[in-house]
Amino acid sequence: MNEIAPRPNNLDAFWMPYTANRAYKSTPRLLARAEGMHYYTNDGQEVIDGTAGLWCVNAGHGRREITEAIQKQAAVMDFAPTFQMGHPIAFQAAAKVAEMTPDGLDHVFFTNSGSESADTALKIALAYQRARGEAQRVRLIGRERGYHGVGFGGMSVGGIGPNRKQFGALLPYVDHLPHTHAPEHNAFTRGQPAWGAHLADALDGLVALHGDTIAAVIVEPLAGSTGVLVPPQGYLQRLRELCDKHGILLIFDEVITGFGRIGAPFGAERLGVTPDMITMAKGLTNAAVPMGAVAVHDKIYSAIVDGAPAGIELFHGYTYSGHPLASAAAIASVDLHRAEDLPGRARAMEGYFEDAAHSLKGLPNVIDIRNMGLVAGIELQGRAGKPTDRATRIFHRCFDAGVLIRTTGDIIALSPPLIVEKPHVDRIFGTLADAIRAEA
Ligand code: PLP
Repeated sequence: MNEIAPRPNNLDAFWMPYTANRAYKSTPRLLARAEGMHYYTNDGQEVIDGTAGLWCVNAGHGRREITEAIQKQAAVMDFAPTFQMGHPIAFQAAAKVAEMTPDGLDHVFFTNSGSESADTALKIALAYQRARGEAQRVRLIGRERGYHGVGFGGMSVGGIGPNRKQFGALLPYVDHLPHTHAPEHNAFTRGQPAWGAHLADALDGLVALHGDTIAAVIVEPLAGSTGVLVPPQGYLQRLRELCDKHGILLIFDEVITGFGRIGAPFGAERLGVTPDMITMAKGLTNAAVPMGAVAVHDKIYSAIVDGAPAGIELFHGYTYSGHPLASAAAIASVDLHRAEDLPGRARAMEGYFEDAAHSLKGLPNVIDIRNMGLVAGIELQGRAGKPTDRATRIFHRCFDAGVLIRTTGDIIALSPPLIVEKPHVDRIFGTLADAIRAEA
């Protein structure tokens, strides 16, 4: 089916997010339809999805089971509030998610996005510290190069310069751990690099500086948006130990690593470290309806909820927390993950995907390749005086040749749907290799 979708007459009204609006609107690329591993442009070109949309369509596009669940729920009840009210499907969705999260993280707070999940987790951390009599713990620690969305909390603990510099001072009580990007030690590592566990010890330094005022540390177990930074062996274990030693909560932002992306239901499981909270979004509903969530440890829920006087225990929530359509999509998506063992499929394909990614070593300007699960980062030497130009041109070449990749700075990130097959992998990396050569 090669339908032609009409091109909108007016591209001006939509102020596009995280987009070079002027450049895009001068040569727009419009995706009109999607199915399985592919997008189709408005003029009918097939484009293989090397990025699962935006790291989110983990089960592949247009899954009938999810579509039907949403349609059915829309016909039964479009919306009902969850403030001092409830509807069955939101409870069912929370229970489904809790079955997937590590033991102990059995309570689920629903949001609508990854950004809201990050801010929710940070607020819960502050409320928890107060509830247990540690009200001086007001400080939030992120990490350089971290991405936790665009709310004021997430942006403040985030560590990507351009995301912050337009917006002034942000939250005052925030500090950052050093990032773990160390190509001088770890270039072209397959999986977790051996060097760098000691970088977690910087938390000791922050405790020496800030005393007992730190409430929580938030990190992506594998940093995605900054260009795929795989955690060094032992790093997250060390961070867990230090958080425990200093009475600090550990939050994993699993908006990307959740739902099978690195070969287990959550990155926590694959990497062998259980945090106190996990934030998620994206794959939760296979991106069919916006939804995020925070899985919270029993000790936190109980300190805030059981320990509170009668009345509302946490003054936080969204009109659409547990929205019926999103809940229906989440249940269907979790069921699909189970029925098709999508994390297992990712794990089984990991070796082939890794070999394909590392086959790019030696191509012009490729200075590092990193991977885990079905995520790969290919770092390029940028053109002198023209940062991002090389990667952007490679993006265009790939798209024109029918492959969607993602770029961040001069790093290419690949994260196909977990249903990807070997011929797709060959096609994605073959096309990318040609484009890298062409931009030498
Ligand atoms: N946290 C992480 C780790 C992410 O990768 C993202 C988005 O890519 C977010 C938070 C923000 O999610 P959203 O764009 O749904 O607000």
